[in-house]
Amino acid sequence: RQRWFGKLQEGLRKTGSSISTVFTGSQIDEQLYEDLETALLMADTGVSATEHLLADVRRRVKDGGMTHPVAVRNALIESITVLLKPLERPLVIGEFVPTVIMVTGVNGAGKTTSIGKLTRHLANEGASVLLAAADTFRAAAREQLSVWADRNTVEIVSQENGDPAAVSFDAVTAGKARGKDVVLVDTAGRLPTQLHLMEELRKIKRVVQKADATAPHEVLLVIDGNTGQNALAQVKAFDDTLQLTGLVVTKLDGTAKGGVLAAIALWARERAKASPGLRPVAVYFIGVGEKLEDLETFNAREFAQALLG
Ligand code: GDP
Repeated sequence: RQRWFGKLQEGLRKTGSSISTVFTGSQIDEQLYEDLETALLMADTGVSATEHLLADVRRRVKDGGMTHPVAVRNALIESITVLLKPLERPLVIGEFVPTVIMVTGVNGAGKTTSIGKLTRHLANEGASVLLAAADTFRAAAREQLSVWADRNTVEIVSQENGDPAAVSFDAVTAGKARGKDVVLVDTAGRLPTQLHLMEELRKIKRVVQKADATAPHEVLLVIDGNTGQNALAQVKAFDDTLQLTGLVVTKLDGTAKGGVLAAIALWARERAKASPGLRPVAVYFIGVGEKLEDLETFNAREFAQALLG
């Protein structure tokens, strides 16, 4: 825990440095709140989440009768923690055998790396994992996934020039037959131009459901934390098509845009209000580096504390 917190803290320093300078003055005045607003916007917190956090911080400061800027900093940590808390939920496996996890994300987000890390994480918990190479459009994607399979010594279902939905169906069927605990389905992040990515993903989801009526049990989106508001736009688009259950936020080691987590939290809160029947979206993991072990479960308070150094 200590080690990764240090890494996250180190990484988020870029995001937090501009926010932290806001609290170096000697009094709480309007200038401080203006500076805080600017810093939060610069950290890609987005207009709505920034407004939400500022109002919440102002209320805490007022209610507490606080007079020193350091108190505003602590109030901000509380506000961020409370906002992010609903995103904190562990990824549960074992309820279904296999637990089928569909993993999506645009190219470059860190999807393949995250699947490798997640495989290691699950294996460490004693789960048997089967990988499905359903990004059949890029030969490199298949090869990359099999490298991660080898590193983790797990089996992989892969077909040269295969159909993504067919590979997914085969993998879920094989996972059931072989009694695997988890089937991780790697999907395409971009397609040859004339095909539509969302249609493709929808088809994979539908076919997985044919192989196992309760599946997929999780639909994850991997987003690059370094892309800020663009990551939020991806979350909305993928959720519209696939009804996401969780996120993996990568590259939080060294981003100036860590505020996007607050924007995602506010979006998730509105989503829960608008569609109470949907499972809430969680941030299951965060990526804090390129190595196999650089995947950590998300913790709201630790994130808020790391953010403000
Ligand atoms: P994909 O196209 O979404 O499958 O992306 P990849 O998994 O190939 O990752 C793209 C690049 O991001 C690679 O160079 C990875 O090493 C890097 N990467 C992935 N996750 C992280 C992370 O958490 N931190 C850092 N620093 N780099 C990451």
